[in-house]
Amino acid sequence: MIPVRGYAGKRVGVLGLGRSGLAAARALAAGQATPVCWDDGEAARARAEAEGFAVEDLTRERPWADIPALIVAPGVPHLHPAAHPAILRAQAAGAVIDNEVGLFFRGLGMSDAQIRIVAVTGSNGKSTTTALIAHILRESGRPVQLGGNIGRAVLDLDPPADGETFALELSSYQIELARALAPDVAVFLNLSPDHLDRHGGMGGYFAAKRRLFELGAPSRCVVGVDDPHGRFLAASLRDDPETGDPVTEISAASRLRGRGWSVFLNRHHLTEWRRGAQAAAFDLRAAPALIGAHNAQNACAAWAACRALGLGPKAIEKGLASFPGLPHRLQRVAEKDGVLFVNDSKATNADAAEKALTAFERVRWIAGGRPKEGGIEALRPHFGRVAKAYLIGEAASAFAATLGDAPHALCGDLDAAVRMAAAEALPGEAVLLSPACASFDQFADFEARGEAFVRLARQLTEGAP
Ligand code: ADP
Repeated sequence: MIPVRGYAGKRVGVLGLGRSGLAAARALAAGQATPVCWDDGEAARARAEAEGFAVEDLTRERPWADIPALIVAPGVPHLHPAAHPAILRAQAAGAVIDNEVGLFFRGLGMSDAQIRIVAVTGSNGKSTTTALIAHILRESGRPVQLGGNIGRAVLDLDPPADGETFALELSSYQIELARALAPDVAVFLNLSPDHLDRHGGMGGYFAAKRRLFELGAPSRCVVGVDDPHGRFLAASLRDDPETGDPVTEISAASRLRGRGWSVFLNRHHLTEWRRGAQAAAFDLRAAPALIGAHNAQNACAAWAACRALGLGPKAIEKGLASFPGLPHRLQRVAEKDGVLFVNDSKATNADAAEKALTAFERVRWIAGGRPKEGGIEALRPHFGRVAKAYLIGEAASAFAATLGDAPHALCGDLDAAVRMAAAEALPGEAVLLSPACASFDQFADFEARGEAFVRLARQLTEGAP
């Protein structure tokens, strides 16, 4: 845990008592402050009380007389669609409003340890890219801590030690409220409409992410330029190469051979260009966990970030090749008789399932669950790759209607779907769970769904009981 400095002897409000809120309360207490906790949910309040923290109703005026600051969890709305009542109280009382990420950067700013921080944001691929950066650094022998929106909360990480690198995944919610941001390397992957209700539209969402670069002022900005927001961001951060341009552009869609520093996909090769000349190239087919164009973007971003941290191409290549991937994201879990079993349970919408479908030539596609708006209509152009679809859950009959003449079967549940797909699959095909649906009709969450798939796939391929 990283103790919070600067609030010793003071009462500090903590709003939202999930994983990061409780971590903030502990870190404040470790820094001799007294956290005053609140959450709308009774169970969350009970957990804080059980840890010995004071719980007071921060939506009332009374507690605010001696609380100079409020730490807000990322899940609590602070502006759109409406600010939480405790935030209105804090504003009225003139309290500083901050979050765990702000406390983290402020704490590190006061520390003497020589460390580097790389922060990754974007709509998609944050976890993969952050984990990949951490993996490459670790494999090259550099000490690294991974956290933020992935794994441990930032304040749950260990106190910094000399020579360490912190690899942080930051969501737009976490960036938006942070009063301090100071990454050495910041990565913007992409932007797609997501969480727009909380940001009051696309402009607000982009502004939140952009803050990492403007307030954060990283010495190296790695920017994905495959969408208009990325191109705009890169242009706005750009400087004359003579005076030190801080931008490294990355792309999985176009060849960026400008004057600056760029990393992009050229057919199968990740390619690095600097000052108009190719500096390195790596065949991404040697990185089995990074299949698909979206992962090429993640790999380019990780490459650029690690180069900025001083790693050489050889060390990065080694890390890319040995990256095991993250569970439930195009995760290869078994292979038998030329049939690959792939768990992409994290694909809870058509957009994500599209990435998976286009990553393979021919798929036995297991889809369904609790449907999202639009169903799989958007995936129609890819039905040609589907050897057969195996449909489960509430969405099954609607998906069957969309599939029309494309081969499909109504399987009911995952167990039946995996068995049928495995029995019918031919060499060279992939049995792919990429449901394009939420899991809640049949599973606790997408992780439980993915784990069930992995168990079954391994049973069927290893003959285990
Ligand atoms: P995040 O942490 O941003 O949610 P993840 O790395 O967990 O992202 O990936 C979640 C899903 O998003 C993946 O299963 C894949 O379908 C999709 N995805 C991953 N990387 C990208 C990318 N660079 N661009 C678009 N989609 C992506």
